[in-house]
Amino acid sequence: MDADIIVIGAGLAGLQAARRLQRSGRRVRVLEAEGSVGGRVRTDRIDGFLCDRGFQVLNPAYPAVRAWVDTDALDLQRFGVGAAIRDRDGISVLAHPLRHPRQLPGTLRSPRLDPRDVLALSRWLGPTLLRATVSSRSAADAPLGAALDHAGLTGPLRRHLLDPFLAGVLAEDAQSTSANFVRLLLRSFALGAVGLPAAGMQALPEGMAADLRDPVRLSRPVRSVATRADGVTVGTDHGPLHARAAVVAVDPGAVPGLTALPAPPMHGLVTWWFSAPEPPRRGRFLLLDASGAGGRPAGPVQDTAVVSEVAPSYAPADRALVQATTLRPAAGEPADEQAVRQHLEHLYGVPTRRWELVVRHDVPHALPAQPSPLVDRRPQRIGPRLWVAGDHRDTASIQGALVSGDRAALDVHAVLDGAAPADRDGPRS
Ligand SMILES: Cc1cc2nc3c(=O)[nH]c(=O)nc-3n(C[C@H](O)[C@H](O)[C@H](O)COP(=O)(O)OP(=O)(O)OC[C@H]3O[C@@H](n4cnc5c(N)ncnc54)[C@H](O)[C@@H]3O)c2cc1C
Repeated sequence: MDADIIVIGAGLAGLQAARRLQRSGRRVRVLEAEGSVGGRVRTDRIDGFLCDRGFQVLNPAYPAVRAWVDTDALDLQRFGVGAAIRDRDGISVLAHPLRHPRQLPGTLRSPRLDPRDVLALSRWLGPTLLRATVSSRSAADAPLGAALDHAGLTGPLRRHLLDPFLAGVLAEDAQSTSANFVRLLLRSFALGAVGLPAAGMQALPEGMAADLRDPVRLSRPVRSVATRADGVTVGTDHGPLHARAAVVAVDPGAVPGLTALPAPPMHGLVTWWFSAPEPPRRGRFLLLDASGAGGRPAGPVQDTAVVSEVAPSYAPADRALVQATTLRPAAGEPADEQAVRQHLEHLYGVPTRRWELVVRHDVPHALPAQPSPLVDRRPQRIGPRLWVAGDHRDTASIQGALVSGDRAALDVHAVLDGAAPADRDGPRS
């Protein structure tokens, strides 16, 4: 045997599975197709800028992050909890009153704090906020849009803040995502201040990989997995490898190539990273646009931030780094650079002529769709000695990927020990 268990894929799910198996005393080998670990959580270093491969943030309030990630070692640089919103009158900030007491007068004056909306939001989200865990499987669920309508959350708080913010987070603006999933996400956003590791998001998987005694084998794409009653044979360009079990922790699009499972539907995002001579706006808040018709964005940018204001390590000292995120429609072309620049000029109120595009990350398969009703613990054992793990088996998030990897590993360990597999939940959102 080349190892007790072979883990295929060194994204967050594969790395967490490998760490858990190693901790259980198993010999683990991780094979990764790419030249670095992290999968969808990677960072490009370009001319002194750190550009994550698609703007994303680490939420230290995710239960799995609290349990398994040393966020102190990552030196998180935190966003403000709230958002800056542009409307026809200018930009105003709506911030968490306890975390940003200095913003309180502005927040209280905000036209978004319509009392009917506040009451409807409290009723809709309150129980999730107050309970330590949510039985999301059993709670009644609905598509987000219908659930918000039903809750009576139909005013400016929704249209100007929640709708544009959630479209960027969920990578879709049809609001077909499970409302229960969104409640869990909002709970984490309310409880923690999201941030960026000083060395870029890829520092998260790199830190996890550094825990492994047997280093991840990079540039080792797995071509096939054959299961036998007592083990697996994994086909690689360097010949077959044998193990007692395997965890297929590849990205959702690669799952059908190695298993009989179909590829889950995915949503896409495009992130534009611009270098600017000076910050177009000060402060640590995400900027949203409510200045278009019906309070919707007046252009393709779903959210934007002066990332170097939040994370100075992301840019050289004499430049500012601005991210702009646009949705990537399943059909048709994503927005072009001119449209994005025009929208950014409108949002920040400054010309973007002297801004340079550092890189554009087009990620058509960013997040698995998470429709209603929420199924957040999909079966992972797909053969006597074969498991599958990844965010597509849990929730479409860093939390989901970590929990899925851990859950698969606990199950593998129990099966190899001859113990009956149990329902292993991991730390719930
Ligand atoms: C643009 C963007 C923004 C996001 N924003 C957030 C956010 O703000 N908050 C949040 O919680 N989540 C966010 N996410 C989601 C989060 O990044 C993912 O849920 C998580 O990283 C998925 O991890 P994974 O291990 O399941 O899969 P992946 O990261 O896809 O890892 C799969 C790994 O398998 C490897 N692989 C594939 N085929 C093979 C093969 N044949 N052999 C060997 N290796 C193989 C791949 O190279 C990859 O390294 C975002 C994602 C994107 C793309």
